[in-house]
Order: sequence, then structure tokens, then C-alpha cells
Amino acid sequence: MGKTVLHAAALDEAVEGHADRALEFLDRLVAAPSVLGQEREAQMLVAAELERLGFAVEALELPEEIGKAEGAGVPQLPPVGRPIVFGRRGGTGRSLLLNGHVDVVPAGPSRFWSSDPFVPRRDDGWLVGRGAGDMKGGFAMATLAVEAALAAAPDRVGPLTFVSAIEEECTGNGTLAAAGAGVLADAVIHPEPTNLKLLTCGAGILWFELEVEGRAAHAHVAGSGVNAIEAALPLFAALRELEDELNEGNNGRRHAVNLGTFTSGEWPSTVPSLATLGVRAAFSAPWTPAGAQQRVTDTIARAAARDPWLAHHPPRIRFNGFRGEPYRLDPGHPLARALADAHRDVHGSEPELEPGSATTDARFYINQFGVPAICYGPRVRNIHGPDEAVELPSVLDGARALARFIVDWGAT
Ligand SMILES: [Zn+2]
Repeated sequence: MGKTVLHAAALDEAVEGHADRALEFLDRLVAAPSVLGQEREAQMLVAAELERLGFAVEALELPEEIGKAEGAGVPQLPPVGRPIVFGRRGGTGRSLLLNGHVDVVPAGPSRFWSSDPFVPRRDDGWLVGRGAGDMKGGFAMATLAVEAALAAAPDRVGPLTFVSAIEEECTGNGTLAAAGAGVLADAVIHPEPTNLKLLTCGAGILWFELEVEGRAAHAHVAGSGVNAIEAALPLFAALRELEDELNEGNNGRRHAVNLGTFTSGEWPSTVPSLATLGVRAAFSAPWTPAGAQQRVTDTIARAAARDPWLAHHPPRIRFNGFRGEPYRLDPGHPLARALADAHRDVHGSEPELEPGSATTDARFYINQFGVPAICYGPRVRNIHGPDEAVELPSVLDGARALARFIVDWGAT
């Protein structure tokens, strides 16, 4: 730790000195409503910020064939106008890649929010807004750390790459495309919201859609039709069965099968003819995405066979997003140890290990490209919910630790 201590005071001073600017960048980023398909404005803000920090910035698009790549999710939208932004900065020593995603999940009904989800609002040390926590606060933390390291110890900063991905929340294809194009380094840090803990692993994640047919009829002769909403009800129990099956042998945190969307019906006086369920399932090794897909197919078929209507009108299953593999970095890996050292130098104690029951883009670096990757980022609340927020002091604390890591990693 001797090396960092030499620079600690200068790094902390630099974080403090550049904090206002980083938080102002965060405000602008949260104000860009970068839901799926609308990532461009946020990406332009990131590109400008990286250029300001001396990165040579480039952009690439999702390749047409990305869905066929190993580990890829099922493509969601055409790639045009949805750049993946990355910047590179020279230096000598070990290289480091910082990876964040600008895509955010939909805000949901605005009446559940205390204020407009895309107008950043300060609340007693927190910044509230969709994406503030997951993970635009991490962008502010990482760019602030880079700026502080460059200001306080420029000779100790190795080659840096910053990847600003899209589709982390549905496929991971943004990061996969960048890595596949050779945008890699000796190690990767994702400033995802980890509450300043180390997150070294993630669950496998599968998205699928179930489509249940009914038979439309006028409501006054409803008996001659089949209500697709009612026909879908047995599948709710089947999804709970699936959750139990995917958790067999899992000793860690329980993995959820989440019924995330349910759409049906055209008119109150019409018997609905179609119901669609959108589901996210999580699982851990030794399950693979292919194995989990087979289990989904089998469990739904079994449930359908028990039901008189579904037995003859089996639900259609479509795998329509994540096909993410579980991943894990050994917490004793030198990358994790170095980041733990940097955290301890700021906080006086070891960071906790966060158990992972979601996924992150780190899986591609670890599984497909053999590059160690880890998540470490600010404290947050209500991510994916209303009044999502990031705790601003933790953005600065995270930057202090990451700045220490950057100068040690590059100089070693
Ligand atoms: Zn995230």
C-alpha cells in the first residue's frame, strides 16, 4: 500500500476539486432519457466527456450478425442511430478498461415518482432519476477517478479504455460487440451500483415470452369463446415450478423467475384472443442458457398437458433477449485484491463481497475473452423502481478508491 499512500492526499484533493464538474455531467446524463432505442443523446454526452479527458473517441454499431455470437442475446432493435461509444488513452504499464452502460429501464407510471424521472433532483445527498443509480452514477464515479488520477499522478496512469455500452439491460450485445471488435485491456472494471462492495459474479439470465391463444367472441356470448387471460392462468403456477427447478442445488441467494409483463385484450366487450407473458429467469451454474431454455420448454409443456385447453393449444415460447451465462471471478484474483486494497486505503477496511443474483456485462470479458472483470460502484436505492437514486458522497468515495486503483494498476 506504500505506493498509493504517497499519492493519496493528492488524489483525494483532485477528486474533491473535480467533483462539481463530474456531478454536473451526471445531471446531464440522467436528463437524457436513454431507454432502449433512445441511447444516442446519452452516448453523445459520454463521448464529449471522454474527449474532454483526453480520450480518442470512436463509435461502432451493433453488427447485423451479433445475435449469432457466442453468449449474445437476441437482438432487440435495428442498430442504426444507437452507437456504442468507446475511447482510448495512451500510456505505459498495465492497461485498464472501464465499462458502463447508458441504457436504462423504462421509468414506469410517473405517478409513482415524486418528480419527473428524467429531471435529476437532489434529495439530501442523493440524486433521484431513472438511471441515476443503474448506472449513470457509475459513469460520474469513473470519469472523476480518471480525471483525478491524471491530475494527481499522470505518470502512473497506464493505457485506459472506456466503453459506453447499450443493451446491457436486455442482451449485453453492446459490450459483446465492442469486445468482439478488439476493444479490450488487461482488466475491466464496471462501476455498476454495488454499494461500494465488490461484485465478482453473476447469475445466468434468460428472457422468454409465452403467447397463449384464446378464441375471440362477443362478450354476450362469452361462453362460445375462450378467454386468453383466463387460459394463461395455469402458467403462473408453472413459472413458480420453474423457479424451484432452476434453484435445485443452488446454495446461494434464491434466483427469481420474474413475470415482468403481461399483455392481453382488445376491448372490454370482446373475449381476448391472445395473452402474452414476458419473463426473466435467473439460474446459476451448472445450468447453461441452452439447458435453461430446455427446462423452460419442458416445464411449460408439462403444465400445458395438464390443462384441457392448453393441451390442444400449447403456449408458443419465444426466447427474446438475454441468453446470459453465469460468470465468476475468483475473489482472490489479483484484480479483486488490488481493488480491495484501493478501497481499504480509502475506507480503512476491506470491501464486502456482494452476492450476485443478477447479471452484468462482465460475463463476456470473463467467459468469452479471458479478461478479468469486476464490478465496483456507488451506493444506490430503488434501481429499476420509482425514485431510483444514487448517493452522491458514495460517487466521490468510489472515485477516490478507483483513482488509487488506476495509479497502482498502471504503474505496476
Ligand atoms: Zn446496470
